[in-house]
Formats: sequence, structure tokens, C-alpha cells
Amino acid sequence: MDRGMFIDTTRCVACKACQVACKAWNRLPAEQTENYGNLQNPSDLSYTTYKLVRMREQLIDGKVHWLFFPDQCRHCLAAPCLLWARNTDAIYQDNETGAVLFTQKTRNLNAAEIAGVCPYNIPRSGQSGELAKCTLCNDRLKKGLEPACVKACPTACLNFGSLIDMREMAYRRIKKVKLTYPNARLLDPDDVRVIFLTAFTPNKYHENAASFDPATWQRQ
Ligand code: SF4
Repeated sequence: MDRGMFIDTTRCVACKACQVACKAWNRLPAEQTENYGNLQNPSDLSYTTYKLVRMREQLIDGKVHWLFFPDQCRHCLAAPCLLWARNTDAIYQDNETGAVLFTQKTRNLNAAEIAGVCPYNIPRSGQSGELAKCTLCNDRLKKGLEPACVKACPTACLNFGSLIDMREMAYRRIKKVKLTYPNARLLDPDDVRVIFLTAFTPNKYHENAASFDPATWQRQ
């Protein structure tokens, strides 16, 4: 069954339980890092950081808001990385779950090109040139488990289920959120398996939070 996630950023408290659970399940090492002056750490996604709670302080309509954005691969329905690579030994989609997966053979691809076609700037390369990113915990899904990040989330910011159920949940929730935040939106909900809801325009959270607006070809 096609799987999906719904990430309701209005419920994120930046506890980073998802970020830590991702590291633990995927046995990814911690990174040498430093204090950047806010809660976000490390400063970006990397070959060993697949999930990152981004944080920005923004002044919106005269009020300071802390905006949290648990960034990760969107597992696009027609994934540009996969379509560009044209090499299913390196990038393929799991027929059962829909997860877009990278293999060690990504080291034979042009890493900059693959990163460049991703609308959300997700893939990162390691020293060998191999690319890495979120796997949707496909190994857990195969055993009937939910992704580690979802399991760890204490606030129902991260939700997992069939793609249809996640879309329905997202469309139900946006109606409610809009009563408080009229500029709230779902990010590319018909094009991705990991659907984000933001209370404000997405570029307030992160410049690559949403893909291009097809009407203007500008980032939303
Ligand atoms: Fe590929 Fe980027 Fe889409 Fe993930 S978000 S499937 S890396 S194009």
C-alpha cells in the first residue's frame, strides 16, 4: 500500500525526538557542531543527518514567532531525483511502500546534478560521492512498523499511514488551522508522500520548504 506522512508544523515543539530517533534507528553518527545562536543543530542536513528540525525566529505582523520545520525527503510521487538519474540500480522506488531509495551506486551519479533537481534540496553526498537521505524507514515499514521519527514524536506533529489517509488528515487539519492562521497551507500535497502543513508562507521557515509555484515558477 502506498504510504505517506503528514507533518503538522503547528504541533512541533522542536524537542528533536524525531531527529534523535532517526540517528538511532539508522545508526548514524553524531556530528561535530557548535552553537549557532538558536535551537537548530546541526546547521544543515548532511550525509549522516537525514532529519533536521529547522528553526527560525520571524517577525510576522509585529509578533515574534518561533517557526519549527522537521525537514526530510518528501518521497515525491514522480521523484525528480529518480527521473533524472535514470539508473534504478542507484535510485529506485519501492513498489509496495512508495519510498524513494538511494543505494551505494549513487556514487556513480553526478551528485551535484541530483541535488540540483531535488525541489527541496535534500540529497547530501559523503566522501565517497555516495548520496544519502531519509529512507522513510522502509526497513521498518516492511516489518509493519511506523518510521522511527513518527514513533518518537510526542505531539502528533508527525503522522504516518496510507497516503490517502494522510492526505485526508492534512486537508481536514488545514481547514481548522486556517481559522487561526489564514495564510496556512499544505506544501505540494498532491505531489509528495510527506505532506507538510505550515501556518505561514513556507519561505518563512526555510527557502526550500516548498517546491516552485507552477503559476509563477517562483518559490512560494
Ligand atoms: Fe528525490 Fe528530493 Fe523528492 Fe526526495 S524530495 S524524492 S530526494 S526529489
